[in-house]
Amino acid sequence: MLPTRLDCPECQRPLVNTRFDTTFRLPDASERLCFGIPAGLCRECHQLYMDPDLIELLDLDAGRCVFAIESDAVLQAGAWSGAE
Ligand SMILES: [Zn+2]
Repeated sequence: MLPTRLDCPECQRPLVNTRFDTTFRLPDASERLCFGIPAGLCRECHQLYMDPDLIELLDLDAGRCVFAIESDAVLQAGAWSGAE
């Protein structure tokens, strides 16, 4: 496991480190879906930060992340509603 950046480089707030389902738009206007990507999200800046090695591995260095949702958000929501 590679070390993950813990603070947002823009606002220095702690990132939410979890797995995300993401959509990347590539230069040829096609889109690529990537599921379960480990990344850090800044809730203030709405920016997703991924490991550069992972971006290179997925061949996404020329792409832009246009959508990301926490993979386990549905499970968390279910747990919260069940506790109320
Ligand atoms: Zn930030």
